Amino acid sequence: MNKEILQLIYLVGSVSFMIGLKMLSKPDTARKGNLVAAFGMTIAILGTIFLYDGIKTSNYGWIFGGLIIGSILGTLSAKKVKMTQMPEMVSLFNGMGGACAMLISAVEFTHLTHNYEIGALPHGQLLIIMLGLIIGSISFVGSLVAWGKLSGRVGDKTLKLQQLVNIGLLVFILGIACYTIFAGPAETVTYFYVIWGLSVLYGILFVMPIGGADMPVVISLLNSFTGVAAAMGGFLYDNKVMLVGGILVGSAGTLLTLVMCKAMNRSLTNVLIGNFGGGSSGESATSPSGGHIREINAGDTAILLKYANKVIIVPGYGLAVAQAQHVCHELEELLESEGVGVKYAIHPVAGRMPGHMNVLLAESNVSYDKLVEMEHINPEFTTTDVVLVVGANDVVNPAAKTDPSSPIYGMPILDVENAKNIIVMKRSMKAGYAGIENELFYQPKTSMLFGDAKGTLTKLVAEVKAL
Ligand code: NDP
Repeated sequence: MNKEILQLIYLVGSVSFMIGLKMLSKPDTARKGNLVAAFGMTIAILGTIFLYDGIKTSNYGWIFGGLIIGSILGTLSAKKVKMTQMPEMVSLFNGMGGACAMLISAVEFTHLTHNYEIGALPHGQLLIIMLGLIIGSISFVGSLVAWGKLSGRVGDKTLKLQQLVNIGLLVFILGIACYTIFAGPAETVTYFYVIWGLSVLYGILFVMPIGGADMPVVISLLNSFTGVAAAMGGFLYDNKVMLVGGILVGSAGTLLTLVMCKAMNRSLTNVLIGNFGGGSSGESATSPSGGHIREINAGDTAILLKYANKVIIVPGYGLAVAQAQHVCHELEELLESEGVGVKYAIHPVAGRMPGHMNVLLAESNVSYDKLVEMEHINPEFTTTDVVLVVGANDVVNPAAKTDPSSPIYGMPILDVENAKNIIVMKRSMKAGYAGIENELFYQPKTSMLFGDAKGTLTKLVAEVKAL
């Protein structure tokens, strides 16, 4: 009977994951989607603990001890984390998933060698264990390196011929794993540990040379690895909910990686070996084509804003850095109360993680219908009086359309230059993530409003109120 109830719980759990994932695709249902998926995971865990035959009650102390410690650490770190550190936390949490898959393989390998003679280990199970070990180790160590790079603890380090070394090492790991599985040598146990050690080394070498700013894409890729490694656990234990969960994470992570690459118009290979971003500082008041910038102050900007019919705010990474989302919302409400129509233009890769701007603005209770995706807002710029670019740079760089030699050429951008007035708010003339000049800043319709986004927006609110 317990078995049937458990299968039913797994079915409900699996369906909850799918519904939760679907709901995560829209900002207004995302929070609920997270809860739905968490509910599915909770019943699957509790069902396994209390109804699965293989669990000894004498292990409850360990299980609940681990659950309590993990829950406390997870809750505290999720509450403490700043929005801009979110990719770091995702990376750490993802690494924990990889570590679990890796440890499951290690434990199950020991069980297997106790139950069977070396040389007669079942190929199928050994294959799954090896895959879980290799993928889980790469995901665990790779995520830790990614976390170190994002938090500035680890720099980008590239060995000579790094990519060749990496490919050679991966082929070697897979070769020795195949030999161990199918030839069943007497040294199987030793080879298992060698494969483990080399996979850990590969995880470091794989992530180390990738440009620091490309980490969110790599984290998404590592996330898909963790999903696949967890699915291996599902096969191993014949556990449907683990299998479905792993496959969903694996496929969602892969799709997200591809979507991010597409939105940046870069191939995955380019991300993995390109060391993109952080090149030139681009700090110059004169453009390469000889144009000059025009500065504006908060008072004049406030006049433009107050007497406009339609304003579009373009948020970018700088808004997140400055934590200016609340005051930005305040300005939006103030302008709306003065009869100005205000919308936000959301570029798919604005910020440093997928959905960064949606999450940031949702935090300050901006209404979801004001967040307009790029393809829908682009035709609206021609009828817009003022565009306020707040801490965005690459996502409004016309070079993506006009300069075939630019690294961002082909990346879809927000057509802000079609508006009547463009105000760019940033601290200096420094470049953004792609490390390149932005001709928009030198165009006659553009004015630069320098300063930290939070401070400048606060001044704008005060100036509009004073008018
Ligand atoms: P950018 O990185 O292009 O530009 C951000 C700008 O914000 C900088 O030029 C900086 O200028 C300014 N800024 C920084 N801090 C502040 C502050 N406190 N106050 C005001 N301005 C500030 O950001 P975008 O959002 O335009 O573009 C995102 C980029 O990141 C794209 O190139 C995208 O491909 C890439 N990317 C995005 C990912 C995603 O998933 N969203 C993942 C990986 C990469 P200054 O220093 O002068 O203030």
